[in-house]
Amino acid sequence: SAPLAEVDPEIAQAIDDELGRQRGTLEMIASENFVPRAVLEAQGSVLTNKYAEGYPGRRYYGGCEFVDVAENLAIERAKALFGAEHANVQPHAGAQANVAVMTAFLKPGDKLMGLSLAHGGHLTHGMKLNHSGKFYEIAAYEVDPETGLIDMDQVREVALAEKPDMIVVGWSAYPRELDFAAFRRIADEVGAILWVDMAHFAGLVAAGLHANPVPYADVVTTTVHKTLAGPRSGLILCTEEHKKKINSAVFPGQQGGPLMHVIAAKAVAFKIAATEEFAQRQARTVEGARIIADRLTADDVTDAGVSVLTGGTDVHLILVDLRNSELDGKQAEDLLHQVGITVNRNAIPNDPRPPMVTSGLRIGTPALASRGFGPAEFRETGDIIAETLKPGADLDALRGRVSKLAADFPLYEGLEDW
Ligand code: PLP
Repeated sequence: SAPLAEVDPEIAQAIDDELGRQRGTLEMIASENFVPRAVLEAQGSVLTNKYAEGYPGRRYYGGCEFVDVAENLAIERAKALFGAEHANVQPHAGAQANVAVMTAFLKPGDKLMGLSLAHGGHLTHGMKLNHSGKFYEIAAYEVDPETGLIDMDQVREVALAEKPDMIVVGWSAYPRELDFAAFRRIADEVGAILWVDMAHFAGLVAAGLHANPVPYADVVTTTVHKTLAGPRSGLILCTEEHKKKINSAVFPGQQGGPLMHVIAAKAVAFKIAATEEFAQRQARTVEGARIIADRLTADDVTDAGVSVLTGGTDVHLILVDLRNSELDGKQAEDLLHQVGITVNRNAIPNDPRPPMVTSGLRIGTPALASRGFGPAEFRETGDIIAETLKPGADLDALRGRVSKLAADFPLYEGLEDW
């Protein structure tokens, strides 16, 4: 049949334009990455045609012998990568994985305790318009207003006062490692299920650069498309004890047919995530974030009222605090966009500005590390960001420096001919 460019030139053009944007700019949205060619191939495969409700060996459709191979590989690789007893690789996305966990362990009206959205939590951890906030009672812990850190004494106080049925540990915007053992002790003290959502830092865990929550938690969820650099999707890990409950919460509890092309692409991503090359990429990711945090805490930057929450980072992202800057989050995001750096504005704890404006930026390094950036390029990127956020920046010159970095690290070379 006819190629996309003939069948639908408008969509073909949008895809081409997006490829051009990804190639010509520096992608620094902390939750994004560039998947390897092998992942793109699996995800764009004929497996998209197959219905496979059920689980490998127990499907409600015929003809599942080959998609079973793919799903079994994804399951075994996920278990090995994170040292888990069971993996469910069917959630369509991180949010679906999280709904499955909540429905597996909670009844409507039970209490879920998570990090407040305004302090870096995710909307699936209790935001009032989300499934989590609508069906469950919510209790929230926060970061310390002085240090910006999660204070385990405060977490314990909230847990003792609120007596949650489940505690969720994880974040979308927090630059430090969490103490899983301390969360486990608190969960045990109040009789709560411990759920870790490692969506952001799963790649670092796979590379051994961040503590693994699997030994501490009853259940762990993650997205596969952030630091893990796989297809846009979700994953649930748990002990053998909870396997049945989790599987039936995903299907038939919440989803119908699994996306077999995406599951095959997850298997590929998990295979790659077990390699030394992947571990080195994660090391460059974390080192790059530290280099940029160092640059953004230098005197010339702090003089312009720009600072970094918690003073640095342990992970793949930096949270920039603009409360003392002339720029708000929206203006800073727009300026960086003008020089070709893509970031997102982000509310900071106790943000005085509204959520569509904010007083912060979230800046991440996974996509640039995947592109091949090392310390020298991250140093130059940090300089460009610092110059852009200072008054009187020469935006044209800075755009030129971004274009040079982008040109030096080609992305998806020859994709047109694959
Ligand atoms: N959990 C956390 C901690 C996240 O940061 C995200 C995504 O930003 C999700 C869950 C949801 O993932 P998805 O966008 O795939 O539904």
